[in-house]
Formats: sequence, C-alpha cells, structure tokens
Amino acid sequence: MSASRIALAEPCLTGNEAKYLQECVESNFVSSVGPFVLRFEHDFAAAVGAKFAVACASGTAALHIALIAAGAGPEAEVATSLLTFVASVNAIRYTGATPLLVDSERETWNLDTELLRDEVVRRARRGQALPQVIEPVHILGHPADLEPLLELRDRFGIAIVEDAAEALGAQYTAGRCAGRQVGTVGDLGCYSFNGNKIMTTGGGGMVVTDDPDLHRRVRHLSTQARLPGLAYQHDEIGFNYRMTNVAAALGVAQLERLDEFIVRKRAIAERYSRAFESAHLELQPTATWAAPSGWLSTVLVPGGEHGRDALIDALGREGIDSRPVWTPVRRHTPYADTPVVGTGDVADAIFAGGVTLPSSVGLTSDDQERTINAVLAARLRNSGEAEPVTPHHRRK
Ligand SMILES: *Cc1c(COP(=O)(O)O)cnc(C)c1O
Repeated sequence: MSASRIALAEPCLTGNEAKYLQECVESNFVSSVGPFVLRFEHDFAAAVGAKFAVACASGTAALHIALIAAGAGPEAEVATSLLTFVASVNAIRYTGATPLLVDSERETWNLDTELLRDEVVRRARRGQALPQVIEPVHILGHPADLEPLLELRDRFGIAIVEDAAEALGAQYTAGRCAGRQVGTVGDLGCYSFNGNKIMTTGGGGMVVTDDPDLHRRVRHLSTQARLPGLAYQHDEIGFNYRMTNVAAALGVAQLERLDEFIVRKRAIAERYSRAFESAHLELQPTATWAAPSGWLSTVLVPGGEHGRDALIDALGREGIDSRPVWTPVRRHTPYADTPVVGTGDVADAIFAGGVTLPSSVGLTSDDQERTINAVLAARLRNSGEAEPVTPHHRRK
C-alpha cells in the first residue's frame, strides 16, 4: 500500500495558472490595478449569474464590506449560523454590529431559517428591535433554505448577505430560488478563494450583487473610499481590500475549470454516500430542492466527540487527513456570551459527530477507496463487530 498522505482539500493548478502568472510578471501588472482583476470579475459574475462582482483580498474582507453596504454597523444586529467558520462572525463584529447565532437544522446542517423567521416575527409582534441583516451560511457546500428569509426581507426589509464561501457552484433546484446559484439570491453574496476552497486565488474573495448602488458602494469601500480625480480624496473610512492582479490571474485560470471541479466534487460525494449507506453511516444530508457543490464530504459518526476523535486518529495513522466540522461559534472565547436562537443542541450534535473526509478535486480513485476502507475498518473496530465476509467496498 502506498504511504503517501491523502490531503483534505488541496488545490489543482494544472490549467492555465502558470501561463497567466507569467503574463502578470512580463506585463509588470502585479498589483491591484490590472487587466486580470477586471476579467476575473466579469467572468465570475457571468459564471454565477450575477450582474456585478467586486474581487477582494479575502472572503473575510468580502463579507466585511458587503455587510457594511447592507447596513451593518455599531447599532445593528446581524443573524448568522451558530455552526460556521469563525470568519462569518468576525466579519459581523468588524462592523461593530452584534451577532445573533441561529441553531442548525438536521435537514441540511445550515442555520434553521424557520426558527429565525419565527423569532423575528415574534419580536415584530412585540414591537422589539429586529436584525438589520441576515447572513446565511451555506455550510460545507450545501445551500441554506433561504425562502423563510426572503419572506422576512419582503415583510420587514431585512437585508440578506449570503456567506457562500464554501458553496460556489451549489444551486437551488426547486421552489422560489429554483435555477439560482448560491450567493445570487440575497442582496449581496460573498465567496472565498482560499487554498482549500473549491477554487483558489492563493487568497481572495468576491462580492456579487444585482444592485448597481450596492455594487458602487462595495467597490468604493474596497479601494480606501477614494474619490475619482487626481488628488487622493476620501469621503469615508474605506479599506485596502482589492484583489491583486497576480491573485486574479490564478482566479481566471481556476474559473475556466470550475464546472469540471464541481463535477469531480459531486462524484466524490456520491461515491462516499454509496459506500457508507449500507454501513449505516450518515453523511451531511442533501435536501430535495438542492444541488450542493460537494465542497467537503462529511460523515456523522456515533459515539459523540470520543467516537469522532477516534476515527480522526485512526485515519491519521493511515496517512489520511480528516477533521471535525466547525466548532459552534459560542464555544470560542470572544463569542461565549453571544445570544443563540434555539437551544444550540443540533449544532452541538453535528459538531460532536461530524468528520470531514478527503475531498480534493485531484483525489484519485485509489485514494478514495483507501479512505473508505479505513473509515469502515475503524468503525468496525470501534463497534466491536466482526469484519463482514464481503466488505462493502468490494461489492460490485
Ligand atoms: C473560508 C470561509 C470564509 C472566509 O474566507 P477567507 O477567504 O479565508 O477569508 C468565510 N466564511 C466561511 C463559511 C468560510 O468557510
């Protein structure tokens, strides 16, 4: 057996990446004013079906200025997922707003948007203050159910900023959002091109919107809020959040292969799903109305945090990288006292049992088989069951 390490999610840079980077160097356009940035924005907007796109230095930067444009600020409250990467919540705090964390739902592992809708409606009935912005996260590549949030936008004018960092390419297949890609349903949508995301620019992010005023404002905030003209004049406090031409060169090359990457990710997820079904190992569920991107395939193992850590250790000994899902936000020191809608029990249960498995677009068939075998073997050892005569993975 080969002893090479199997990574969780590594980039695939075998297209035009080197060629476009070479062009940056040869043309001397490496910084944030350059042709690849505009080309990347144009191509990206077209790929997701949005009118405008603004390329940023990171996904976190994209969220920060999108939230400001949507109205988040020191007096505001912004609702988001309890179960998410900390950047979703840090971006809210950067604006001075107060986060409101929403427990997950079992159907998709995303924030329970019906629970949030009921909370907002209850508050409205009592004449209490409402959140100004809702920032739904599409966790691990699965779209969040946005319909209850669209209701809130219609009734109360609450803005929606989608954190689509993990879900580029995921779509809605039924209902009010049918045919739309994640990130294009809300007022603004944000993506990340960090090294482990579905496509990468080394580090980078994007804000998309269909609203020309929001587009202008996000672009303005990303360039130090500098006014047009020769003099360096600024009408508010902006940020140095523009993407560089070097990063955008990678982005253009990666985007050329995005469809291919998504097909690969979905095939990997599908194979895990088939392999684990008869072992009664649950994966992140897929809703009937969703086509996830398959960013990181994740199993839910029984036995709580002990069972989860035992599996991660067992895989690690076989040279296979895996890790728990995101730690529920209120377990981080700065967010210990943040209010939660719901009990938080669902997010805790997903955290206790969730193990993300190798899902790189370059994952070979042999390496995925090795991973599947290792998961099944570890599970059998844990539960003390005998090895079946015909192991599931060999059944054809
Ligand atoms: C990766 C990620 C981000 C932040 O993106 P960066 O490009 O790393 O700043 C934000 N939200 C979620 C849910 C993420 O997974």
